[in-house]
Amino acid sequence: RHSAHLPKTVLVTGASSGIGAATAARLVREGHTVVLGARRVDRLAESVTRLSGTGGAVDSVHLDVTDADSVRRAVDHVREEHGRLDVLINNAGVMPVSALAENKVEEWNRMIDVNIRGVLHGISAALPVMRAQRSGHVITVASTGAHEVVPTAAVYCATKYAAWAISEGLRIESEPWLRVTTITPGVTESELAETISDPDARAAMREYRSGAIPATAIADAMSYAINADPAVDVNEIIVRPVRQR
Ligand code: NDP
Repeated sequence: RHSAHLPKTVLVTGASSGIGAATAARLVREGHTVVLGARRVDRLAESVTRLSGTGGAVDSVHLDVTDADSVRRAVDHVREEHGRLDVLINNAGVMPVSALAENKVEEWNRMIDVNIRGVLHGISAALPVMRAQRSGHVITVASTGAHEVVPTAAVYCATKYAAWAISEGLRIESEPWLRVTTITPGVTESELAETISDPDARAAMREYRSGAIPATAIADAMSYAINADPAVDVNEIIVRPVRQR
């Protein structure tokens, strides 16, 4: 509605809250067809109801990014119901941070599964579809934690360095029909800190996260990359609060 660009078909992972939900809302408003993916399908259904009639088509699909088959089924759903997949947004992520000495092996593995394997599963499912179309756009959400390590966040930052590297690797390996973008948020309002189980890390993060910017600020960056002229490949956008140094 707002712009002259061509409507695209977009799959957003982790669209049940925070940055993913704000991005989906923004893209629907712009007239794109958006499929919201996550595990909490009740939340997705609420968003679909709320966003229907605000611009483009909107739909949802269950997906667990830790399961390659689940992501492939979600991409199949998008292709079957909406004809194509123009943009994949690898956004799903978790951040149960703690000092390494706390020895939370299960949480380390969960971050690796969601934040790294999840991105790879998205690429694995989307690339064959995009190759057949000879066009596509893969957006991966990294973090300022992909550029610097902060206390309690060694593993989280490691997963985000990895996500950044995978996105960059995809870019340099790809033929010109694929656009590849890394969106790199700083501290942003969302439910992300709720995955922290360690009380000390939770208290420290509460302090660190004061002054967060709204998720709509990240949705703006997504929109910029997606709506850019087709000849333009927006490689990375870093968006952080003015107070975050
Ligand atoms: P939220 O916790 O609000 O959203 C995370 C989303 O990820 C939820 O929709 C959740 O959905 C989804 N998710 C988690 N696990 C899985 C899974 N196994 N399969 C599918 N979806 C999953 O946090 P944000 O919006 O902040 O997070 C979005 C991205 O932004 C993440 O990659 C995060 O690391 C990154 N980021 C966030 C920053 C911030 O300060 N907020 C800063 C830098 C980066 P469900 O539970 O329903 O599956």
